[in-house]
Amino acid sequence: MQATHEVTNQSTPFTGVNLFRVNRPMRDALRVYAPGLDTTALDALGAEAGAAALQAHARRAHAHPPVLHTHDRHGRRIDEVEFHPSYHALLGSALRHGLHGTPWSRGPGGHIERAAAFMLFTEAEPSVLCPVSMTYAVTPALRANPALQAAWGPKLASTAYDERFLPFGQKTAVTMGMGMTEKQGGSDVRSNTTHAAPDGEDGWGRRYRVTGHKWFFSAPMCDAFLVLAQTASGLSCLFMPRWLPDGSRNAIAVQRLKHKLGNQANASAEVEFQRAAAWLVGEEGRGIPQILAMGALTRLDCALGSAGLMRQALSLALHHTTQRHAFGRPLIAQPLMQNVLADLALESEAATALALRLAVAVDRTEHGAGEQGAGTMSDGHEAGKMNDGHEAVMRRLLTPVAKFWICKRSSHFAQEAMECLGGNGYVEAAGEGVMARIYREMPVNSIWEGAGNIMAIDLLRALRGADVLPALERELAPTRGAHPAFDRAAAVVLDTVDHGVHEAQARILARDLALVLQAALLHRQAPAVVFDAFCASRLAATPDVFGLLPAGTDLEALVERALPVEAA
Ligand SMILES: Cc1cc2nc3c(=O)[nH]c(=O)nc-3n(C[C@H](O)[C@H](O)[C@H](O)COP(=O)(O)OP(=O)(O)OC[C@H]3O[C@@H](n4cnc5c(N)ncnc54)[C@H](O)[C@@H]3O)c2cc1C
Repeated sequence: MQATHEVTNQSTPFTGVNLFRVNRPMRDALRVYAPGLDTTALDALGAEAGAAALQAHARRAHAHPPVLHTHDRHGRRIDEVEFHPSYHALLGSALRHGLHGTPWSRGPGGHIERAAAFMLFTEAEPSVLCPVSMTYAVTPALRANPALQAAWGPKLASTAYDERFLPFGQKTAVTMGMGMTEKQGGSDVRSNTTHAAPDGEDGWGRRYRVTGHKWFFSAPMCDAFLVLAQTASGLSCLFMPRWLPDGSRNAIAVQRLKHKLGNQANASAEVEFQRAAAWLVGEEGRGIPQILAMGALTRLDCALGSAGLMRQALSLALHHTTQRHAFGRPLIAQPLMQNVLADLALESEAATALALRLAVAVDRTEHGAGEQGAGTMSDGHEAGKMNDGHEAVMRRLLTPVAKFWICKRSSHFAQEAMECLGGNGYVEAAGEGVMARIYREMPVNSIWEGAGNIMAIDLLRALRGADVLPALERELAPTRGAHPAFDRAAAVVLDTVDHGVHEAQARILARDLALVLQAALLHRQAPAVVFDAFCASRLAATPDVFGLLPAGTDLEALVERALPVEAA
């Protein structure tokens, strides 16, 4: 075939970029919240996450989704899910960088560093971060069974990923998942019918036999799960390993893998338990707060993950529009495209700031939790040792606010970033069209671990706690007087918090709280041009479609700050 034309004006792949070095908003935020942080590890991860090798693994892991093998060829049940080697390579990399467990054995700053790393890795591939997040999040809950924590804790934090499906004792590292959702109810877990009957006691504590099902059971090749089941005292939290201590398989039948919109490299299963062995974690009948000690941290990761994906989508949009010309100039130089990109940049930086602020609260409240040992949590959200009252209140408040708002904005964000690439944005091109994959991935963080309404209702619950108003006043005080729109919005939000809202208005409050908190964070960590534009577009006006920044906004400065290029 003769060439019919020369290919021109198509952008180059966005690869070979150190994602940490080019992320100025993240680095500025870290300078404020973790001033002494040694960023060597983040720099190394940034290079790996932006390199062609990991990007190729991500493409292959999606092109070859997991396959369930219920039986071996002789007809014996095996319930194993086979992943493409690229999935294992990605998971191995995430564990090597300590995204699953290292903060628990580190001093102050460990959770903040891990949060930044989690966001950077998300830009490489989010699907493996499902088991990574659950493994990270399980520690505060597992502490309530000291024997299990002592036995499993070191391998849960090991960075030597072991992909083999073997009993716990034979592995170098293990991962964990969670099983709450059943067919008849996910948000309302009190409707769970799966039940657990006492079956004696051993070195891991009180043992039960669990019968029933879970409708969603992600990453089923994890080595163990925290599950909810009904006991004589009510819903209880149980530790259920895939293999039993005697080396036999536990009675967990993997029925089917979900055919999902996105997140396809990761397996989400439907399972049935046929008198599966499990050990009690925490008090019988206190299963919901117990497992929410885990859920509260996976909610943090939902916010971090969505913020990471936003940054990735923004970088792709900026990279493309810098190179693509239309009507005589680069797209990035077209005034209306500048408005869209600048607005996306504001949203991305605000999401990064809010997610990291929550990680700071986690870090400050968890620091020292290890010495406290088991059973310190009266409620999942108050897990661990709260050695800083202000941060404890902020952690409780920010968890539903950040998960609600960042995850809600992210799908809308991905659609607009995709549009910056025109038709190419919509095309998957055998997995090379990353933007389409991001778009399909986005909604999951909003749905799982408590969908939007559940987060808004949880916010109302958080507001019932003591000291919320003074904590918020303290958080917003340094920004008072910096912008008239901020002062007005802060006054309204504080008044609403003081007087309360009807449940039907809870989303409005969640949004308004997110916006004033984001503005206060940007005031602290970003140049004035960012803070002013955020106040003008989100506090003086209601956030709407992207690209509505008002006249007078320094669009070029906003775009320049967000560009995924290393400073000269
Ligand atoms: C890809 C994926 C992976 C998942 N992995 C896991 C897993 O590993 N383990 C696990 O346990 N679960 C998992 N889930 C399940 C997920 O956590 C649930 O789907 C989610 O909690 C919602 O529960 P549901 O599907 O039963 O919906 P429902 O509870 O029926 O909720 C449906 C809608 O109603 C709303 N709603 C519910 N109650 C109220 C109320 N009182 N007021 C107003 N609105 C309300 C919700 O916000 C939601 O929008 C996964 C889900 C997905 C999509």
